[in-house]
Amino acid sequence: MIAKTMAEPHSDDGAPQRHPRLAVTFAARLSFDDVHHSYHGKETIRGVSLTAEPGEVLCLLGPSGSGKSTLLKIAAGIEAQSRGRVMINDREVAGPLAFLPPEKRGIGLMFQDFALFPHMTILDNVRFGLTALGRKAAVAEAHEALDRVGLAHYAASYPHVLSGGEQQRVALARALAPRPGVLLMDEPFSGLDSRLKDTIRADTLAILRESRATAIVVTHDAEEAMRMADRIALLRDGALVQVGDAHEIYRRPADLFAASFFAEINEFQTRVQQGRVETPLGTVPAGNHADGTRVSAAVRLSDVTVAAQGGEIPARVLSRRFIGVVEILELAVPGSERAIRSRIRADLLPKGLRDVTISVKQQDILVFEKER
Ligand code: ADP
Repeated sequence: MIAKTMAEPHSDDGAPQRHPRLAVTFAARLSFDDVHHSYHGKETIRGVSLTAEPGEVLCLLGPSGSGKSTLLKIAAGIEAQSRGRVMINDREVAGPLAFLPPEKRGIGLMFQDFALFPHMTILDNVRFGLTALGRKAAVAEAHEALDRVGLAHYAASYPHVLSGGEQQRVALARALAPRPGVLLMDEPFSGLDSRLKDTIRADTLAILRESRATAIVVTHDAEEAMRMADRIALLRDGALVQVGDAHEIYRRPADLFAASFFAEINEFQTRVQQGRVETPLGTVPAGNHADGTRVSAAVRLSDVTVAAQGGEIPARVLSRRFIGVVEILELAVPGSERAIRSRIRADLLPKGLRDVTISVKQQDILVFEKER
């Protein structure tokens, strides 16, 4: 392979160097320390403290406008925070003591619009960010980066011959070529066809693992975050709601927002009475919530079990919608004006069945203090 024979590094004047400049990726730790940011007087980031550990894939997840991109831009050095610090490997890169420009932070960037330069070959596109190396070494590194994403054979081609997915991989090669300690990715898959997305996401994850870089990935899609992330940081209105792995956040959401962001839920508004929270799907102990407290109870659609008979609560089927592997049922139950929804395996119930029973485990009735 060309990469190995040409990898002998040279400085710009062609003189051989003793040590390769970009030999290995050393995954870096990136920390936000009480970061605030305002935009035209509006506080867009409100005191975020968060660390991406070396080699970890950390997803910043939240609805549109929650501040994910702003946080990523602050990490990159494209945007400056109004308060707090950003550290990379315990070195302040943005804060009261220092501000390093993006190119001095040892980071790679891959943003939503990953456009390649159409008039440059694939190799030159990847070589673009390797300005710190002499020409030969840069070509060798670019070849190696292309090889890592499985596209070395396209080195001499131009971007227009590639499919969307291949272009995305070239963009990934370009971001990884300088062997950044941290790769920052903003909605990297949002421009892709939904059928392609799963494969390309899996490929990207494999390449990230292999390159061993720390990655911070912005997404608004909870399922995407669960598929990719070692840990997820859930944001709302510029503040962290919860940080944890997919299982932790899904199973023990910090609040109603977190619960509803990760799964479709049935929601009930009520008050604690005699230490208990009563819902049309069952009654549970109120835990720490005092009598009289207004609470929201949530039950995920997939936690509402429906059976022809034998369940605890009688229900009537109002509608059934087949959506592939599962179907969504709307059910009338005593004590609830609104229909209860359930997500069950498709074709579990006989066609045309109207009267059914439903059951919900106590532990699947989640109780949260009512916000605002
Ligand atoms: P997200 O990436 O989660 O969609 P952003 O970080 O893009 O959120 O935006 C967070 C908030 O900051 C939004 O309320 C947005 O209106 C505001 N904001 C950030 N940058 C700009 C900008 N350049 N112009 C206008 N509003 C901005």
